[in-house]
Amino acid sequence: MSRWLVKRILGAPELRSKYRIPWSWKLGTRLYNKKSFKETYKQEAFMLLIQEICRNSKFYREHLERFNLKKIRTPEDLGDFFTYPEQLESHPEDFVCKKPDIYFETSGSSGSPKKIGFTREDFLLLAFTTAYGLKKMGVKKNDLYLNAYSYGIWVPGLIIQNALEMLSVPVIPVSHQKPEVIFEKIIDYKPTIVGILPSSLIAITKLAEKCKKELPKIRWFQTGAQHIPRETKEWIKTVWGAKTINGYGATEFGGTFAVECNEGKGYHFNDLLFWVEILNPDQNGYGELVVTTLAFQCMPLIRYRIGDITRFVDDSCDCSFGAAKIDYILGRKDNMFKAAGNNFYPKYFSKAVVEGVFLGVEIDTKESIDRIKIRIVEGSKVDLKRLDTFILDTIEKDELIVETKSESPDSHTGRKIPEVIDLRSRD
Ligand SMILES: [Zn+2]
Repeated sequence: MSRWLVKRILGAPELRSKYRIPWSWKLGTRLYNKKSFKETYKQEAFMLLIQEICRNSKFYREHLERFNLKKIRTPEDLGDFFTYPEQLESHPEDFVCKKPDIYFETSGSSGSPKKIGFTREDFLLLAFTTAYGLKKMGVKKNDLYLNAYSYGIWVPGLIIQNALEMLSVPVIPVSHQKPEVIFEKIIDYKPTIVGILPSSLIAITKLAEKCKKELPKIRWFQTGAQHIPRETKEWIKTVWGAKTINGYGATEFGGTFAVECNEGKGYHFNDLLFWVEILNPDQNGYGELVVTTLAFQCMPLIRYRIGDITRFVDDSCDCSFGAAKIDYILGRKDNMFKAAGNNFYPKYFSKAVVEGVFLGVEIDTKESIDRIKIRIVEGSKVDLKRLDTFILDTIEKDELIVETKSESPDSHTGRKIPEVIDLRSRD
């Protein structure tokens, strides 16, 4: 597609702005499939976005004053300028560029919940890209989608609902409920796809194991917001005969930011809505995820440091997404902790969970030795021998104690919970 045509489409009056990604199905899908559009779009959208936010947002006006904006072409050109969750938490109104039509809140996995506003167009765009992703995953009109995500102030429920409406896929809006209720609705309605939190999925799979009735033929479970070990997915598959596809997201980015690759090679992210950087990568390419939202009107985020550690993945794959990839999240930057002289991330300990759900770690000391308790949902299976060798060596040397701690599933079927609980005294 030629450049003038891109400009003409971007300038179409129904888009109201010359660089917004259209959410209308016909125009949107046409553009999404054009490589040349992607190439042209990203930089132009970024350059225009920078100008617009400085006009409309107090925060950006004050912080970007020192730059000659005409020379800024990519996020990297902003050097040491970043935005942080704390800024969004303390003064969300300063980020607002256009009046919000709807608010969502973050789950507060680090700090208190943040209010994130979206315009009607932002919301429709998110629903459109979710619908586009669902279609790529193979959702069809004759599917029946049971949506067990909360329809409340947390973003996924409503976005998925709207995406399914765009695709004319019938939906059962069960919302987030007790596992028994979700399970009963699955038996009753026989959905072909179920959107659900991993901890609820574990609980309903346990119910399914005991159930004497015939289970419906579910094509896949769509999960997100919590980590789900590969072994757990295999166990779910043996019970239901259905695969589990996990997503990675954040309310700041309007929900699902990336969806797991069919071949298990990390997460494919939406490279039209987001400009992704990996900050200070180590020798393995792991660094901090930094995201610029290119298309939101209400509260655009420039170089937002959400604090998750990951890396780019270049492995090619044959799955339907074809978009760029990041690896599984190694951990939150704030979740890194020191014990027995080593730097650890909770993810290192999730490897020991053979079956069930890993919730995080609790750290205390026992007779002056650091003790890490691997927190799991009751009934999960753990094999400490699966931990990395450097952890096993540290245990062997009596420098570290590793134990497990079971927690009731009912207390954790809600929103995100802290992955690291450090009970050691700080003096
Ligand atoms: Zn893939």
